[in-house]
Amino acid sequence: MRKRKTLLLQRISIPALLSFFASLLLCGLIMSAIITNKVHLDRLRMEQLVMEKSIKLTEVIHKLLYKTEALSALVIQSDGKVGNFERVASTLVDDPAISNVLIAPAGIVSHVYPLRGNEHVLGFNFFQNRDGNIEARMAKATGQLVFGGPFTQVQGGQALVGRLPVYMDGPGGDKHFWGLVSVSLRYPQVLDGVGLPLLEKQGYAFEIYRTNPDTGMRQIIAGSDYAYDKSARFIEKSMEILNATWYFRISPVKLWYWYTETWILLFIGLLVSGLAAFVVQNNHELKRMQERLEEMAQIDALTAIANRRHFMATAPALLSQAARNRQRCFIIMLDVDHFKNINDSYGHAAGDEALKCIAMRIKKTLRPYDLLARYGGEEFIILVVGVEQETAEKLSARVRLSICESPIMVDDTPIQISASFGLAPVESESGLEESIRHADSALYEAKKAGRNRSVSYSPSGEGPSGGLPSGEALPPRTPPPGA
Ligand code: GH3
Ligand code: MG
Ligand code: MG
Repeated sequence: MRKRKTLLLQRISIPALLSFFASLLLCGLIMSAIITNKVHLDRLRMEQLVMEKSIKLTEVIHKLLYKTEALSALVIQSDGKVGNFERVASTLVDDPAISNVLIAPAGIVSHVYPLRGNEHVLGFNFFQNRDGNIEARMAKATGQLVFGGPFTQVQGGQALVGRLPVYMDGPGGDKHFWGLVSVSLRYPQVLDGVGLPLLEKQGYAFEIYRTNPDTGMRQIIAGSDYAYDKSARFIEKSMEILNATWYFRISPVKLWYWYTETWILLFIGLLVSGLAAFVVQNNHELKRMQERLEEMAQIDALTAIANRRHFMATAPALLSQAARNRQRCFIIMLDVDHFKNINDSYGHAAGDEALKCIAMRIKKTLRPYDLLARYGGEEFIILVVGVEQETAEKLSARVRLSICESPIMVDDTPIQISASFGLAPVESESGLEESIRHADSALYEAKKAGRNRSVSYSPSGEGPSGGLPSGEALPPRTPPPGA
């Protein structure tokens, strides 16, 4: 299994790997663009949500705290006597979020509604230095409704409170501070109407806080169960509610890698990259197979040297180059002697082995730039470039000796083999076919003369010329069977 894996890895080509990583990079870039876009959209969505919730929150608080205006009117109309406080106040406390309404001449609570449960607040002085009274002093100083809290009330429980200063017309037409009217809202119940938990359902974490004026510390007013993402992606907006500043922070609960889209994109990215690599790999293998086929079309399957087709295709280029360099060239044709007898005596397979061995011996003897091919059956052809006749004849003799100097071993049986050679010059690229015919006829002469010899073509047609001294026509040490 492991070996198969390694083999598979080894088979993957570099272009396929490169295309895999290039597609992966491209997909990564597209992915990051999509995610960036999503983050941007998230931001816009969060800004919209914060705005919606801030408006709703302000609306809820405004609606309830503006009841202080009615109390103020009551005080002013009754010239500060507020005899019918209870009747008016009972009509004001029409919302379960209102904890109580009260009036405090000179800042000291004189009336509270409902009285039950709020008795402790009677006599409370808003201008004494106590927590939660900064807002009262601010209201007096600014003349405006000031929103404060949440803080713990003297009568217990927590509340958000709005305090409105009341000014009376003095005898000289001037205004003088009469006292405060106040509306307390049950905290945190008053926030129920804002629908903050919905934010969590929509996938966002949030926090609403203020800086407590009494302590200077951050005071959390509302928050989700999930902590908001402090790392980067939260946004913060401030809300001005009746002279108080609250801050709203929101972030998506999901981290980027939690998005389903990210996983889908990653999967698509890998799929696309894999497909790209697959296509490139297939192309690569196809090319390799084509090359292999081309190679096979040029190589003789038995002997693994060039075949006749390759020889005929390659020789012209070598010849024209030699002609440009004014070099002489020769064709050597050779045919194994009495090869049929080898087949007959030892079998065709042994004959094949012998042919392979002969091809190897010829190849070893030649120079690397001589062109050797199997011309057909037990015939071989050699193109020798850039030599004079004498050297070509010596080369031919050397090749002949390499074949016959020692028997070929086939299945532990020594078989003595020889070959006959014909040599002819090639004058030009166009004279190749003719030279082959000439070499062939010289080879025929060598056969006629007794085999295992080399004969050079003689243009006069006088029979063999340049043939080797008879001493060089070595007879086989063991004559081939049936020879
Ligand atoms: P000569 O000395 O006159 O050339 O005698 P010869 O027997 O070599 O000549 P002949 O042309 O009569 O026989 C050639 C034989 O070579 C016939 C054929 O069966 C055999 N031969 C041709 N190609 C192959 C081959 O690929 N493998 C084997 N084993 N034998 C082959
Ligand atoms: Mg033959
Ligand atoms: Mg032969």
